[in-house]
Amino acid sequence: MAGTLYLVPTPIGNLGDISPRAIRALEEADFIAAEDTRVSIKLLNHLDIKKPLVSYHEHNKVPSGKGILQRLETGETCALVTDAGTPAISDPGEDLVRLCADSGITVVAIPGPCAAITALAISGLPTGRFTFEGFLSVNKRSRQEHLASLKDETRTMIFYEAPHKLKNTLEDMADAFGADRKISLCRELTKLHEEALRMTIGEALAYYGEVNPRGEYVLIVAGAERQAEAQLSMEECVEKVHALMEEGLSRKDAVKQVSKTCGVPKNALYDAAL
Ligand code: SAM
Repeated sequence: MAGTLYLVPTPIGNLGDISPRAIRALEEADFIAAEDTRVSIKLLNHLDIKKPLVSYHEHNKVPSGKGILQRLETGETCALVTDAGTPAISDPGEDLVRLCADSGITVVAIPGPCAAITALAISGLPTGRFTFEGFLSVNKRSRQEHLASLKDETRTMIFYEAPHKLKNTLEDMADAFGADRKISLCRELTKLHEEALRMTIGEALAYYGEVNPRGEYVLIVAGAERQAEAQLSMEECVEKVHALMEEGLSRKDAVKQVSKTCGVPKNALYDAAL
């Protein structure tokens, strides 16, 4: 019988965040695949776990992935860890999961620390709908194109960012989204100097003109205000009002709602809907 790949989340700063289930998966695995064995060995020493380690990272993921898959196919159990957080979220774990999925190997994800979700939760921005954008390209043009494609995105957006790229990214975000757009800059999450700055992109640019960015960042950017459906004619807006009334809304409430989304004056719409 084939083995199982366990995705084992590791702390993004605070060692106390490793869960008993994550520890058990590490203890019970036949071997551990690690993004950087030097980083993972420190955690394993701290947990007093001794297991054979194989390296699995961006630059060896094809040959190493094949080797791991072969061992899984012969019935071994592998625990995958990355440098920090949940494997497969903006790290090469994604490719190993795909390989296993394509080969019918069971993949079990143990829930745990993830910088994106931790930052979103404390951002103070809407969490109901969000989009994860990961790292922006280091290439200026690709970065700008990526941001331009998000200009009208209404969901809250999550980005990972390195400190040395932060200022350029904020400049490009100001161009794409406007300096007034709200942003939450979360750094050093779960660590001693954890910080969540909540400001506008313009204020962030001014702040980091004075202060040097330090630590790893998650940027949470507010979505665009919902665009008014201004292109609709008055007749189409009236149809929307009637449709809402058929759903049970009063004329007054239906007019209020449609006038807001379509950007037409309430009184004119009310008269037209009579
Ligand atoms: N798989 C990881 C996860 O679940 O969060 C993310 C891996 S990605 C290679 C690393 C990026 O996550 C960093 O560049 C940073 O943007 C973010 N990150 C990781 N730890 C963080 C922390 N303690 N505080 C803020 N951001 C962090």
